[in-house]
Amino acid sequence: MGRVSEWMIEQQERGYSEADGDICANCVTDPALKAWVADHLSSTACTFCGDESDDAIAASFDDFVGIVLGGIGFDWNDPDNEGIMYDGREGGYQAPLSDTADVFYNYDISDNDNVVQAVIDAVDTEAWVERDFYRGDDGERLTSGWTWFKHVTMHQSRFLFLKNEGDKYDDDIPPSQMLNVIASIISKDLAPFDFIKTIGEDVNLYRIRIGLTPFETAAEIGPPPLEFATQANRMSPAGIPMFYGAFDIDTAKVETFDVAHHAGQIMSIGAFRALRPLRLLDLAELPDIPSVFADETRKFIHPMRFLHAFAADLVKRIARDGREHIEYVPTQIVTEFFRRVFRDAEGKPLDGLLYRSSRPGAGTACVLFAENDQCAEADFVGKPSKQLLKLHAVTHEECPI
Ligand SMILES: [Zn+2]
Repeated sequence: MGRVSEWMIEQQERGYSEADGDICANCVTDPALKAWVADHLSSTACTFCGDESDDAIAASFDDFVGIVLGGIGFDWNDPDNEGIMYDGREGGYQAPLSDTADVFYNYDISDNDNVVQAVIDAVDTEAWVERDFYRGDDGERLTSGWTWFKHVTMHQSRFLFLKNEGDKYDDDIPPSQMLNVIASIISKDLAPFDFIKTIGEDVNLYRIRIGLTPFETAAEIGPPPLEFATQANRMSPAGIPMFYGAFDIDTAKVETFDVAHHAGQIMSIGAFRALRPLRLLDLAELPDIPSVFADETRKFIHPMRFLHAFAADLVKRIARDGREHIEYVPTQIVTEFFRRVFRDAEGKPLDGLLYRSSRPGAGTACVLFAENDQCAEADFVGKPSKQLLKLHAVTHEECPI
């Protein structure tokens, strides 16, 4: 039996005492709990805020406690049900436990403490342990697989890790499988969410090059030609140039300008536009992690939690002190995978990635799989062959000092 089914059967055991009263949607915070109350109105008065109406405005609090407990049980379990070892001479349960208040106050059940306290009073379990404590839940297993992948590619096997199974532990995701697992999360597990964003031909993509003299052409402002692509970047290793850009000039500026190197120089700001619609994997605006209190979307919680952590990790600030040659390696491999191997649910390849700039106050940045000769000049006409972008306009500004 799958772990989800086991969990559902456990939820059918009640686990809480009879709770009196009724609760209205205004006394509830989590949107999924609000929706549940709205769908189960059975009383004309709310016990908690005292609101009354001729129509039904509140749901049974007893049923509500069951729904809350069901949601909490997605992440937490009774230590006996979880099979935690108990040793009286060693202080009891051999796992870190949390009391009911600590657990329940961590969820957006209600802004009204009386509601949360009434739920806690009804619940039979007094101490909680994380669900799947020994094995780790699916989100944690994905996160530890990604941590293992990073370690191996930074410090053990950079180019041939697909053959390297490493040490095998049951249930762990080895580095050799991690890229396919990430692809599968995006195109299968989370298929109902569309992570592919199409950028039309009327959108400005700003790219800045800074130098002692102004630059005017796509060849100059676009990504460096192969022989000059000597710098390792977040998504691209030295020797493999890509087009880094942003959707607004301010983000392009903070991503490019470094006062220590560029003070007093000239910023050439190129606005490029796509020559055909671009299909980009959007890791900048991820959907919210679904509520544990919503039945139908609960299965998306673990993969979505992982994807949020993964996207945050991809844009983590890394100092350019030499360590970038190590620390950027995992993101460079993931990017190459998205460029060369990944296909979306429709079997189509990507033109690049969107990510949230890690600089304070900055917006969405992009990396496009476009090289210097794929950026056409402003006077380009006709049907593009290999070109992906065209220079639309150039402006110049002096760098601040
Ligand atoms: Zn109320």
